[in-house]
Amino acid sequence: MAHKYAPPRKGGEKTKPDSTETPQPESTQSESTAQKPAEGPSAEKPQSKLTGLRNWNVDESVDGISGSRIRDCIIYQLDFRKADFYTKNLTRGFVLRNAKRLHEDTPEDYVYDPDPLVGEVTKHLDGGETFKQTLILRAPRDDAERRRIRDRYGVNSYTIRFLAKPGCPVCRGTGYQYVSAYPGDPVYSKLTEAVECACIHE
Ligand SMILES: [Zn+2]
Repeated sequence: MAHKYAPPRKGGEKTKPDSTETPQPESTQSESTAQKPAEGPSAEKPQSKLTGLRNWNVDESVDGISGSRIRDCIIYQLDFRKADFYTKNLTRGFVLRNAKRLHEDTPEDYVYDPDPLVGEVTKHLDGGETFKQTLILRAPRDDAERRRIRDRYGVNSYTIRFLAKPGCPVCRGTGYQYVSAYPGDPVYSKLTEAVECACIHE
């Protein structure tokens, strides 16, 4: 089995023993101690609140293209495609002049998702360097999203917990089941090993 995925952590903190995320208990401290942002990837989620041009008025259509479609196109070009032509030129005036082109350059089925399944986070190294890392940001909502993860990132120690079926009776949604390492052996049959549950491929 490959190594377990463990996000890089600051300082000498221990890494979590397992990949299952448990929600933090509600803080019982008084309001004088301001809430600290949570550690880990969730603290670096890409902004979900739209600002600037990305916050295009969904009621403002241009050249027969709906405002919500224009907003989606802007977000797609700036945040997903990131082609120079758009990142350097995209302004309100540009959109008004080139709405058709913007529309044609953006996949028909792209729709902005305010709660994205996958996102890029910036990781900071000790030397001040940064690098981008793609993370799965939340549990998939349905089988279609599970398939998206599997098709795009494959089955590995990082994706298994997202690919497991939540109600699976075999692995209980963990993606792993424990089987005897020495089946039938009178002495060692009680030793178990974790193997991938079949549900991650369903
Ligand atoms: Zn399972």
